[in-house]
Amino acid sequence: MPFRKVNDLILPTLLPIASCLLPEKIYFCAMQIIDTHNHIYLPDFNADRHEVVKRALDAGVWRIMMPNIDSSSVVPMLECEEQFPGICLPMMALHPTSVKENFRIELDAVEKALQEHKYYGIGETGIDLYWDKTFIREQVISFRQHLRLAEEYKLPVVIHARESLGLIIKELQDFGAGRVKGIFHAFPGNAADAHAVTGMGFMIGIGGVVTFKNGRQAEAAIAAGVSNIVLETDAPYLAPVPHRGKRNEAAWLTLVINKLSEVLALSPVEVATGTSENARRLFNL
Ligand SMILES: [Zn+2]
Repeated sequence: MPFRKVNDLILPTLLPIASCLLPEKIYFCAMQIIDTHNHIYLPDFNADRHEVVKRALDAGVWRIMMPNIDSSSVVPMLECEEQFPGICLPMMALHPTSVKENFRIELDAVEKALQEHKYYGIGETGIDLYWDKTFIREQVISFRQHLRLAEEYKLPVVIHARESLGLIIKELQDFGAGRVKGIFHAFPGNAADAHAVTGMGFMIGIGGVVTFKNGRQAEAAIAAGVSNIVLETDAPYLAPVPHRGKRNEAAWLTLVINKLSEVLALSPVEVATGTSENARRLFNL
């Protein structure tokens, strides 16, 4: 029997979600979903950020984790945290595609930021060999530095591994599996890769890509199992079908949950609850 879609769910117990948006209204939602990766502070959302967060809350997304990009994104990210306290939560790192000649200055800024403000994770870091290989050596140095920071600050590390999964896994093994935990964001690997990274204690981040035709992320999700999966949008990117190509937003995680529920043969509530529990434990929420 097919599972009912998220929007059709009627549950006996409704969980309240306090909202800073409309203080007179308590949000009631059947699920508590955590979006572990969302760049909601980017200008793409400047015109309607308030509505986007409201739609997220209405859909049951009660935490939106924000990965940093570089020193230019810190101010808008922290403004977002201030505007939606307890909902939009910041992380700190230098994104691999922002690793350039000045990366040492940027890394110093990351470390200083960690000393001055509470961040919930080290993200996003990693290695990106898709866009540009010019700074591969610097990207590796930067990734190693982020691993050290994750260990020192006891924070999960959010890893961007584009065309670099093997190299990232090798770096993690060299660093010492078990010293850090975290997420392989927008998991790019197959079932065997999923076994490899979950075996090292990492979660795989599943988002809109799981709804795309090729089905590779679905295979990885099956291999990982719900106990090793967290949900993410990577908004404004990677919108799920039928919104593929449009600006992504947290409310559309319900589409990802519905797809995962088919793939994993679990109910949407089991997917939402299981993945949120994983995220809550990892980010210490
Ligand atoms: Zn991202």
